Amino acid sequence: MGKFFRSTKLWAVGAASVVALPLLGGGPAMADGNFPSTEGNTNTASILTYDGMVKDLLKLERNSRYDVDVFTLEEAGTTVNKSEQGRDLYVATVGDGPQDVWVQGRIHGNEPYGAESILSLLKNLGTNGSSNYEEIRDAFTIHFIPMYNPDGSELNIRQTVLWDDVANAPLLDAAGNEQRVDLNRDWVSDKFQASESLAFYEYWTMVQPEYGIDIHHQGLKQEYGTGDDVTLSLGISLAPGGPTLPTLANGEYDILTRQMHGYVYQELSKSGFINMDRYSVGGSLEIDIKGGVVSAMMLGLNYQGLNPTGHSNPVVFFETSGNTSDGSLGQKARGKSIQQNILAMETLLLGLATDEVQSVDPEVWEEIPHAPVTGYQTDYAGIIPVTP
Ligand SMILES: [Zn+2]
Repeated sequence: MGKFFRSTKLWAVGAASVVALPLLGGGPAMADGNFPSTEGNTNTASILTYDGMVKDLLKLERNSRYDVDVFTLEEAGTTVNKSEQGRDLYVATVGDGPQDVWVQGRIHGNEPYGAESILSLLKNLGTNGSSNYEEIRDAFTIHFIPMYNPDGSELNIRQTVLWDDVANAPLLDAAGNEQRVDLNRDWVSDKFQASESLAFYEYWTMVQPEYGIDIHHQGLKQEYGTGDDVTLSLGISLAPGGPTLPTLANGEYDILTRQMHGYVYQELSKSGFINMDRYSVGGSLEIDIKGGVVSAMMLGLNYQGLNPTGHSNPVVFFETSGNTSDGSLGQKARGKSIQQNILAMETLLLGLATDEVQSVDPEVWEEIPHAPVTGYQTDYAGIIPVTP
C-alpha cells in the first residue's frame, strides 16, 4: 500500500534526478496556486528535441546499473521502421520480468512531457537499487517509447505529416495541401496511413504486452463541483461501462482498467500536489474511440494478419493539464507536470507488480471526480447518449 509514498528518502532520490521539487510535506493540494500554471511562456526551444532524446537514451544505456537496452525498430526487425520523414523510431527496455509492458509518450508531437517523464522513469529504473524499483524490474520487461511521433515533435504539432520520399517534401493531396495524420486515430484496418503506425503496430504484435500506459496533455481544466484546477486526468479510451469495453475479454478490461486508475487515484491523492479527475470531453462526455492506438490494443486489432492470435491488453492514459497549442503550458509548472507523470507511471507499475491493483474495488472509479456522464464521443457513431 502506497509504497512509493512511505519513504521520503526514495522520493528525494527519485526527484533529484529529475527536477528539484519539494515533493512531500507540501500541504493541501494547490496551496501554492501555481500548478498548473500558465506563467512563464512556453519556450519551445527548451522542450526536448529528437536529437536530445536519442542522446539521453544512449547515455542511460551506457550509465545504467541495471540493463537498459536502447534500440531502433529497424534493429528490432519491423518491416516498416522509420517515421514519415525517415527518422529512426526508438524503444528502450528495462527489467527482465516475464510480463511485458508498453509505455508510450508523445504520440502527439506537441504534448512534450510524455517523453521527458519516460526518460526520467527509465533513469530511475535503470539506476535505482531500491526494493520498489527492483520489484518492478523483476515483474516486468518494460518497453518505453519516449517519442512515438518524432516528426510531429520536431514540428511541435499534434500529427505527423505524410511525406514524399522522392521529393523529400510533404506528400500533397489533389488540392495541393499537405496531409497531416493523427497517429492516435490511425490504428484502424482501413487506415494505417502513416509509417509510424505500421512500425509500432508490428512491434506491438512482436511484444504482445500484458499492460500499457499512454501519456498525453490536455487543456486547462477545473474539477466538476469544486472548480479546483485539475492537474492530471485519468482516462480510458474505451469508456468503462460504455458501448465497447464491457464486451472485450469477457468484461475483464472493464474491471481491470477501473482498478488501474482507481489504484493510481488512491495513491496519488496522498501526494499533496496532484489534483486528479476522470478524463472527459465537452464537460460530460467520455470517449469511446476505436482508432486510438491503445483502444486498438484492447480490441486486439488484427491488421494484415499480423496478430493472428488476437492478442489484446488493457491500457490506461494520463493527461497532464496545459499544452503548447493553447499556450497554456507555463514553464513554472514544468517540474510538477513531469513529476506527476513519473509518479503515476511508477505507482501503477508497482501496483501491478504486487497485484495490489487487482485487489482494488473497481467502484473507486466512481469516486474519482467527474461530471455526470451524458454520453460517449465516438469515432464510429458520433455521440452515443447514455441510456438510463
Ligand atoms: Zn494527446
